[in-house]
Amino acid sequence: MPACNQSILDKPYFYDEAAAFSHLEGIMWPNGAVCPHCSAKDRIYELKGKSTRVGLKKCGNCRKQFTVKIGTVFESSHVPLHKWLQAFYLMTSGKENISIHKLHQVLEVTYKTAWHMNERLSDVMRESIEEICKKIAMLDLNYESNREEILELESIVFDFIHAIRSWEEY
Ligand SMILES: [Zn+2]
Repeated sequence: MPACNQSILDKPYFYDEAAAFSHLEGIMWPNGAVCPHCSAKDRIYELKGKSTRVGLKKCGNCRKQFTVKIGTVFESSHVPLHKWLQAFYLMTSGKENISIHKLHQVLEVTYKTAWHMNERLSDVMRESIEEICKKIAMLDLNYESNREEILELESIVFDFIHAIRSWEEY
C-alpha cells in the first residue's frame, strides 16, 4: 500500500482498544509481559472471552489478574486507552501546547475529563525530564569522567523528547 494512503492518525491504536493495549504493551514490556504483583515473567496467560476486559492477563504464579495499565498513568481511568493515546499524541505533536478546550472537543470527552487527562500526562512528561535534569545538575563538570556521563544523560533527555514527538516510529 502506498505510504501516502495512510497517515499517523490511521494507526489502529488511535481508534481500536485492543490495538491500543498491544501498543502500550510493546512499550512497557519490550521483552514480554511482567506480572505487576509478583514480577514473574513466565506463565502469564491472556484471558479471552466475550465478557473479558481487553488486555486482561492472569499470572500462573500468583494467580492474580492484571493489565498493562497497572502502575501507569492510565490505571483506574474510565477513559478508553485509545483516547489516552490520542491525547498524548495531541499534546506532544505540536510546538504549542494544546488547550484543554481543544482536547475536550477533539476527544469528545467532558471538559473536566480533558482537564484531568492533560494534568496527568503533563505531570508524567515533566517528571521524567526533570529527574534526568536533576541528575545532570548534580554532576561536577570539572571531572572528565562526569562530562561523559552528562553527555549521555543529555542524550537520554533528547531521546525522550524525540520519542514523544515521533510516535510514528513506534
Ligand atoms: Zn504474579
